[in-house]
Amino acid sequence: MTEQEETFPEIRQSLRALCAGFPGSYWRELDAERAYPEAFVKALTEAGYLAALIPEDYGGSGLPLSAAAAILEEIHKAGCNGAACHAQMYTMGTLLKHGSAEQKQRWLPGIAEGTLRLQAFGVTEPTSGTDTLSLATTARRDGGRYIVNGQKVWTSRAEHSDLMLLLARTTPKEQVKKKGEGLSVFLVDLREAAGRGITIKPIRAMMNHAATEVFFDNLEVPAENLIGEEGRGFRYILDGMNAERILIASECIGDARWFIAKAGAYASERQVFGRPIGQNQGVQFPIARAYAQSEAAALMVAQAASLFDAGQRCGKEANMAKLLASEAAWAAAEACLQTHGGFGFAEEYDVERKYRETRLYQVAPVSTNLILAYLAEHVLGMPRSY
Ligand SMILES: Cc1cc2nc3c(=O)[nH]c(=O)nc-3n(C[C@H](O)[C@H](O)[C@H](O)COP(=O)(O)OP(=O)(O)OC[C@H]3O[C@@H](n4cnc5c(N)ncnc54)[C@H](O)[C@@H]3O)c2cc1C
Repeated sequence: MTEQEETFPEIRQSLRALCAGFPGSYWRELDAERAYPEAFVKALTEAGYLAALIPEDYGGSGLPLSAAAAILEEIHKAGCNGAACHAQMYTMGTLLKHGSAEQKQRWLPGIAEGTLRLQAFGVTEPTSGTDTLSLATTARRDGGRYIVNGQKVWTSRAEHSDLMLLLARTTPKEQVKKKGEGLSVFLVDLREAAGRGITIKPIRAMMNHAATEVFFDNLEVPAENLIGEEGRGFRYILDGMNAERILIASECIGDARWFIAKAGAYASERQVFGRPIGQNQGVQFPIARAYAQSEAAALMVAQAASLFDAGQRCGKEANMAKLLASEAAWAAAEACLQTHGGFGFAEEYDVERKYRETRLYQVAPVSTNLILAYLAEHVLGMPRSY
């Protein structure tokens, strides 16, 4: 047991009990149907975990980010998947940090008690991709409202959320003084928007992630739903990205630990040539290597989370945590699948499902190359490539 596993032991213990009610068979059935884990999300909401980061004044638990990291890590370590609901933890931070007192009072208590879901985060677009500053969705001010037109892609959970945090362009790119200006953040009420300028289409993906495409056709968003100042949205979104990276990295650590435990157990049990396969170093070593990688990554995640909680700069650490943890999870996934031989491909072992799920984290929410570019250019001072 590592030092990090001992943080928030009560939270971890009660999550283990909660997750035990959602075994592999539950996730397999949903995966086959690409269905949303309603019962799991309800259980997490009722137990208050999704409100962990919301301050007590608004009905949440007011816990630090490292507690949220422990929650997501335990979920993944138990073979469950937090992707159905993790967005609430980091998107809420934009509202908390940049929203007005009135906006916070309007939305946070409902989010904390679970009557309002803030699970959709609309940034990525089909044409601009990683180049967020080139996004083409516009929000044009018209009296007391904004008129939104454009398209988002890969917007996870939009069909299962009441609110969407939306990034859209309010000033044309050619008219801004600094390239990071001109984008704004809105909280779109998807319940009011339904049938009035928004169309949501599911994307069938490699894993069960409730991914969608969202089309905006003259959608009216009340001006009071603008978060913070018009034109400063990109900065607000960047602010939230460290939290997002740390939390996703925690899920990767959970995945890595699940794969390593599963691989180790199978390697010790499975007899071939009259002895356990785990007696062969060719089987042992990839598992041991993935273990070392994941423990090192876990230290970086803990370091990033503790800097974040202390209000210190943590861009470097948050990015490295996400990079190292996603790669450690993938190394563990590879070792686990290989250890299981043919059975690794059988759905009933859950290995192939987790393998597909954990692959995502080298691409989303930010791809490995972009993290490397950040480290090379912003931390190591090399010339900028874009
Ligand atoms: C299942 C799933 C769920 C998602 N959920 C959400 C969500 O809820 N909200 C949301 O807004 N987005 C979401 N995304 C989108 C995700 O954040 C993007 O897919 C990701 O950021 C990469 O963008 P892209 O797909 O447009 O790739 P592209 O930008 O087209 O990049 C393609 C490849 O080229 C590489 N590349 C691009 N530019 C450079 C460069 N300058 N240097 C080196 N390499 C480069 C990238 O690293 C990547 O490997 C999700 C994606 C998936 C698959």
